[in-house]
Amino acid sequence: MAQGPAEPTAQTNESQVVEQTVLLYAAGKKIYARSIAGHFNNWRWAFVFLTQVLYYITPWLTWTERPAVLFDLEARRFYIFDLILVPQDFIYLTALLLLSAFGLFLFTAVAGRLFCGYACPQTVYTSIFMQVERWIEGDRHVRMRHDKEWSLAKRMPRKLLKWLAWAAIALWTGFTFAGYFTPIRDLGASVIGHGAALGFWQWFWMLFYSFFTMMQAGFMREQVCKYMCPYARFQSAMFDRDTLIVSYDNARGDPRGKRAKHEDYKAAGKGDCIDCGVCVEVCPTGIDIRDGLQYECIGCGLCADACNSIMDKMQYPRGLVRYTSINALDRNYTAAEVKKHFFRPRVLIYSTILLTITVVVLTSLFMRTPLKVNVIRDRGALAREVEGAFIENTYRLQINNTGNNAHVFLIKPVGKDGLENLKALGDIKVDVAGGAVKTAIISVQMPIDQANALTKGSHPIQIQVQSLDQPDLKVSEKAVFFTPR
Ligand code: SF4
Ligand code: SF4
Repeated sequence: MAQGPAEPTAQTNESQVVEQTVLLYAAGKKIYARSIAGHFNNWRWAFVFLTQVLYYITPWLTWTERPAVLFDLEARRFYIFDLILVPQDFIYLTALLLLSAFGLFLFTAVAGRLFCGYACPQTVYTSIFMQVERWIEGDRHVRMRHDKEWSLAKRMPRKLLKWLAWAAIALWTGFTFAGYFTPIRDLGASVIGHGAALGFWQWFWMLFYSFFTMMQAGFMREQVCKYMCPYARFQSAMFDRDTLIVSYDNARGDPRGKRAKHEDYKAAGKGDCIDCGVCVEVCPTGIDIRDGLQYECIGCGLCADACNSIMDKMQYPRGLVRYTSINALDRNYTAAEVKKHFFRPRVLIYSTILLTITVVVLTSLFMRTPLKVNVIRDRGALAREVEGAFIENTYRLQINNTGNNAHVFLIKPVGKDGLENLKALGDIKVDVAGGAVKTAIISVQMPIDQANALTKGSHPIQIQVQSLDQPDLKVSEKAVFFTPR
């Protein structure tokens, strides 16, 4: 809960002990962020464009007649272009989480909340929704005037139009989200009534994600960053005095004050800040960067764009609000010195870890055999005698072809130390389509006289599964062969 301002309510005695009421909740003030053009705004829109093109287009891409990216939870298979991941590949998901975590640590250590300001879905969708709002209702001052002067009935048509536009974007976003888990063309056909009926969970996730997008980007906006996002709270642990953050240069800007354009403000004892408040008006979280580093700051740099535009108008040098570090401000670093301080121990450690994990994961993916075999013994009968001539064990094999091409696999038992003469019967040739899984049941036999020569009990063997058309595609799994007592 937000802690509101403390209000003095009574003065109790001469020693100035003041009783205070501390509000545990402070109603949020509506933020009417003003649009601003500039370098950081261009970067922000470039990221919005890039992330959204990727997000909306990816589920429509196809790869060897299937969706290029599909997380098929029901079949427990993740398709990512040529890669098919199955539950045994869980390690890659762990590696992905590690990469994301260390990537975040690294970028935060170097340049603060870059992710929040440019690539976080909350920022990206809020930017889109705010832009739609500006197109329909006008920029900050127009919206503020309309909200103040116009009756609800007069404002309603524009609001309705805005909500409809938001709802359309949110629904498309929810549909796209579900399209990562169900082939999107089938999903689309089902939604318009030309395909199989959708299940409860498909409807649920599509509508829930749409609702979630609409609420978070349309109505809650900065409240999500301020009160719901844990990253805002623990970011300070990843910052240090050399981390680049959006900062106001107090030494240069203060004392602030209004002035005429060509006034000799330095002679009047003023700093470069003309106290115009534009940096506050453009801030999507409604804070004043001149108050120093605040957890509400998402590092979007719009206040720097705003201030630069004012500096240009006043013909002062740019950069009163800029990306810089605390050390750079305190010690007057030059740009070259700021760059030099990028390379400090924590940055080098994060980079090394990130690079190591990336190399290990890529090497492992490159060398991975696209075949997984699971051998399960028939628990009903450990071993049995067949026609007085053989001892037989039965196995159930799950053959997971995690490649894109179909293969015919040959199953062969391999033993040593008296188990050389094993032979297999049953499903010893199995045809498995690309990305499919098939079960085979085989019986492994060995001559009874050789079995009698072995000690009674279990003996390690290997079950080899090999593609007939691609012999290097081969997996050997451990199993045991029982000889009865
Ligand atoms: S203070 Fe500046 S950088 Fe921080 S959120 Fe506001 S506009 Fe963005
Ligand atoms: S935009 Fe720049 S000049 Fe204007 S109030 Fe903010 S810091 Fe001062």
